[in-house]
Parts: sequence; C-alpha cells; structure tokens
Amino acid sequence: MSQSSSTSAPGTADAKTPGMVIIGGGLTAATAAETLRKEGYQGPLTIVANEAEIPYQRPPLSKGFLAGKEGEDALLPLPASWYPEHNVTVLTGTAATALDPGTHTVTLADGSVLPYATVLLATGAAPRRIPFPGVELAGVYTFRTKADSVAMKERLSTGGHNLVMIGSGWIGMEIAATARELGNNVTLLGLEDVPLSVAIGAELGGVFLNRHQEAGVKFVLPASAAEIQGTDGVVTSVLTTTGVTLPADIVIVAVGVVPNIALAQDAGLTINNGIEVSAALATSAEDVYAAGDVANAMHPVTGTFARSEHWANAIASGKVAAKSMLGQDATLDDIPYFYTDQFDLGMEYSGFGALTKDAELVVRGDLAKREFIAFWVLEGRVVAGMNVNIWDVQDTIKALISSRRMVDTVKLADPQTPLEEI
Ligand SMILES: Cc1cc2nc3c(=O)[nH]c(=O)nc-3n(C[C@H](O)[C@H](O)[C@H](O)COP(=O)(O)OP(=O)(O)OC[C@H]3O[C@@H](n4cnc5c(N)ncnc54)[C@H](O)[C@@H]3O)c2cc1C
Repeated sequence: MSQSSSTSAPGTADAKTPGMVIIGGGLTAATAAETLRKEGYQGPLTIVANEAEIPYQRPPLSKGFLAGKEGEDALLPLPASWYPEHNVTVLTGTAATALDPGTHTVTLADGSVLPYATVLLATGAAPRRIPFPGVELAGVYTFRTKADSVAMKERLSTGGHNLVMIGSGWIGMEIAATARELGNNVTLLGLEDVPLSVAIGAELGGVFLNRHQEAGVKFVLPASAAEIQGTDGVVTSVLTTTGVTLPADIVIVAVGVVPNIALAQDAGLTINNGIEVSAALATSAEDVYAAGDVANAMHPVTGTFARSEHWANAIASGKVAAKSMLGQDATLDDIPYFYTDQFDLGMEYSGFGALTKDAELVVRGDLAKREFIAFWVLEGRVVAGMNVNIWDVQDTIKALISSRRMVDTVKLADPQTPLEEI
C-alpha cells in the first residue's frame, strides 16, 4: 500500500476519525474528491485505489496515448501534487475487500479497517471475459488499464503485427484505428453486420466501417471466435465461427465491460445491472453512494434506470455524488454524452440511446463526405444527436433535446436553417 500524503495531515482519515472514503481510482473518484474539496469539505478524505496509479482517465489509452502522441499528463485529471496539497490520502495498489454499511467500515486487502461517515463506490467496470478456447494463450489480451495500454503500445508501435480484434464496439474500433495507423495488419470480428449498429444504427455505423476499410482494416462480419489457436503456449491464429483462419500474433478481446459490483453485492446493496442508485446517486444503504460506470442511476427525464459507461458521466456523476455526500440537493439529470476519435473521424453524441430504437433518423449534411449531424426524432422531438467532423454544436443539440420542443424534420435536415431556429 502506498500513500500520496501523510496520514497525520488534518484532512486525512485515520482509524479514529471517520471521514469521506472513495473506493476506486478512476475519473469518477478524482472528480468526486475534487468536488468535495471545492464544495468546502475539509474533513478526512481517502481514496482507495487498487491500481498502482493515482486516479487517471481512460479515453487516451486507446487513442493518443496508445499512438504515442500523448504522454502521461493526458491521463491525469488532477496532477499528482493536487492530492497532498488538498490533504487527500490516496491508497494506491490497495483493494477494498469488504464494505459494512452497518458498522460504517471498509476493510482493505491488508486486513486494516477504515471507518467512514460517508462512502462512495466508484469501482468502475472491467472487461467482459468470454471463455473462448485458447483465451489463456500468450498474446491474448483484454484492454482497460494504463498497464494494458503501455504493454500494447510496446508491441504495436513496431508495426507489422497481425492483430485480430474480437469485438467491434467503440473500444475495439478505436484500438483498431490506432493499431492500423501504427502500421499493423488489423482484422475485426463483430456480431453485427455493421460495427456500432447497436448504438447508432447500420447507416451511421457504415460511415465508421467505410473509413476503417479505406485505411486497410479488415472485417469478418458477423462472426466471433470459435477458437484462438497457438503453438507452445503462444497465439498463432484465430479460427472464426464462419470457418476462416486468421493469422494472429496479437488478439484483443474487446467484448464490452461488466460493472465491478462485488463489494456492493456482498454488502447487500440493491444490484440491478450495476449498483442501483437514485437520481441523487444514493444506494439502498444509508451513507453509501455510487457513481460512474458501476452505477445504474434513475434518470429524471426518462424515468428509467440507465448505466452509462462514458467519460462525461464519470465527471457529471462524480460531481453529483460528492454534493449528495455533503447533504446538498443534487440530481444527475445531464443529457448523456460521449465521444470517439477514429482515424480522421471525430464524433460527439448526446442523448438518450434507449429512446432511439423507434426514432426516425434525420441527417443534416453529407454522410459520404463524413461531415454531418444525425438526429434521432421520436414523436416529433429530438431525443439524441451526433455530430461527425462538425464542431461546436453540442450545446445546441443538447438544448434541442432538453427543450423537448416539436421539430420540423425538413428544417432539421437542411444545413441552411440554423439549428437555433428549428
Ligand atoms: C480504452 C478506453 C477508452 C475509452 N474511451 C472513451 C471515450 O473516448 N469516450 C468516452 O466517453 N468514454 C470512453 N471510455 C469510457 C470511460 O473511460 C469510462 O466511462 C470511465 O473510465 C469510467 O470511470 P470510473 O471512474 O467510473 O471507472 P473506472 O475508470 O473503471 O475506474 C474504477 C477504478 O476502481 C478500481 N477498483 C475497482 N474495484 C475496486 C476495489 N474493490 N478497491 C479499490 N479499487 C477498485 C478499478 O480497478 C479502477 O481503477 C473509455 C474506456 C476505455 C477503457
């Protein structure tokens, strides 16, 4: 266990003075800690983080950091100096192994017990593991942590590898783009006919598919891995469910994530696709909150639970959780937002994905030129919007969604009509 500030500092939790405890070392944890201090909380504050790192954010891991274009600084939402300067103890390399809402204590991997007045579970998510035959071979990876990205960068940066990506979701597509840019041969397997179609539909998924193909990325669709094959314990190829054998010296399994609920489940908290929380991010146990990828929060606009696995939600929910922990009246009512970068495609999306299934797709701009805004319109109202290679429109898109006003889809599709006038 290592600490980034002394336990004798006035703002540090110790065995006698219960304070705020945050479990998890991701962006949610960092944002919550920063918000607690910004909102004037001066009491003990401890972050329990099981990775070796101080809290970091993940988006650059599959993009600029993996490509070698961004350094360590791009990963840090708060500089290392922030924690001691604000009397925040960070217990890195330390897993919380038990939570007891009854006694208000957290047990750590070394057996020590940390009392809390209020605790935040920001334990995030972990790669989904599927027991493909051969998954244990050397050269088969999952991809979530900085350590994963560092290891992959070391291999991919030399170029010339045969990479097979099992999974064609956002992370798989991003890593594939970076790997290709680094000069590797990349083949993706995906369960849909068109990558990303579950999230954005086949027409828009096709824009990403075409860009990848143009860059030389290959796809086997729809297909999965029947077997990962190897010699002397090292991967050599992937046999697809469609009977194709793909040579591979690197295989990445990127088939989604599962929320890290073990602590909460063992503590008897309500679990429902993650840790179920109110719009204020309170769990079913008193003084226990949850935020970020692990939390399935009631959204006041849709009236349904939604668990977001995105960067913006880590920030928004980290802030709301901190305020709720301080007894303030806070609600997570942001319109969900995320972004991706693949080759020269930059995309931002905001809206309620669950409402887009039966919505009409309205495109403003040119799909072929890869410069457009797509809107999903349900019963006359915009429920989601996505801009590709067009910038500074997210505020307007969000305003359209939150206004819930009826829109004219002809005007919506017409680039000559300012969005503000629709
Ligand atoms: C490669 C990659 C690229 C991404 N790119 C984008 C993007 O472009 N756009 C976007 O919107 N989103 C992106 N995301 C998603 C975004 O990074 C996540 O939504 C965000 O990381 C969630 O933050 P979090 O703090 O809730 O969880 P996490 O980042 O998962 O952090 C949780 C931390 O808690 C630790 N932990 C778990 N259990 C315990 C325990 N018992 N004790 C102590 N510590 C524990 C975990 O090990 C982990 O370090 C990306 C994710 C990945 C992996």
